[in-house]
Amino acid sequence: MKGKNHELINVILLPPALLIVPEKYIIPFGVGYLFGTFFLSPDIDLSYSRVSKRWGPLRVIWLPFQFIFKHRGISHFPLIGTFLRVGYLALIGLSVFYILSSLGMDITVKEETLLRNGLTILTGIAVADLIHIVSDSITTRLKRLFY
Ligand SMILES: [Zn+2]
Repeated sequence: MKGKNHELINVILLPPALLIVPEKYIIPFGVGYLFGTFFLSPDIDLSYSRVSKRWGPLRVIWLPFQFIFKHRGISHFPLIGTFLRVGYLALIGLSVFYILSSLGMDITVKEETLLRNGLTILTGIAVADLIHIVSDSITTRLKRLFY
């Protein structure tokens, strides 16, 4: 399925998804869901996908990921793919954090805020991924039926 259609489906399904999310989690869930849809979708495993291009010059950080994992491989596995992409990005983020800290820059992150919202953001990304994977699977089956 084309990236544009994936994004459209995910945006359309966001309001119904928010209906089942407890009110206090709506913002971190929505942030994770939208980030998962537009910046961290399973199609980040393709260098020329919409989601990859959206990273602009920063898309080079995904080159090793795209080299290691083939398209529609593990990145398209429910939950495992989500953890893999988030873990990969976290590893890069931590490296940058470490480098900046060692250069004497003072960067403080409130662990409590990170922990409280992190799980909800991750859930939002995982739900966006699930919709992407189901959409891919449906279009693949339909193509097999009609071609
Ligand atoms: Zn896909």
